[in-house]
Amino acid sequence: MTPEEIMQVAIEAAEKSETPYGAVIAQGSQIIEVAGNSVFPDNDPTAHAEVNVIRKLAMRSGTKSLEGYTLYTTYEPCPMCAAACLWANLSEIVYGACVDDFVDYNPNLIDLRCQDVIEKSPFSVQLKGGLLLEQCKNLHKLYPIE
Ligand SMILES: [Zn+2]
Repeated sequence: MTPEEIMQVAIEAAEKSETPYGAVIAQGSQIIEVAGNSVFPDNDPTAHAEVNVIRKLAMRSGTKSLEGYTLYTTYEPCPMCAAACLWANLSEIVYGACVDDFVDYNPNLIDLRCQDVIEKSPFSVQLKGGLLLEQCKNLHKLYPIE
């Protein structure tokens, strides 16, 4: 699969979620795990899509290190998720929309960019943004957050 096709799967996970966030972990061109946000159905404030997909793969694979994997997410990881990606040793993070794209929709954002979290850490991870940007931005039109 191409990166765009992988992100499309993350978008579909977001569309099925209570709130419009989806994430995929891939190894090269192969999708390994998919998850959406489940904060409300699980009553778990940490159940963001990125944390959910990391948990699923780490538990299934029996390791806490996801080195060599790429996390695709429809939205730039929040500080909690960025840190989770670092603790998981993910090799790459690819996101669609960024914090600035969502600030008008979600007043609960923490104004700390993923790149800032990475720079404050001892870890190195590749970070790319803007993949299927318009489709990821449009997710919020389906599920306005109040
Ligand atoms: Zn998050």
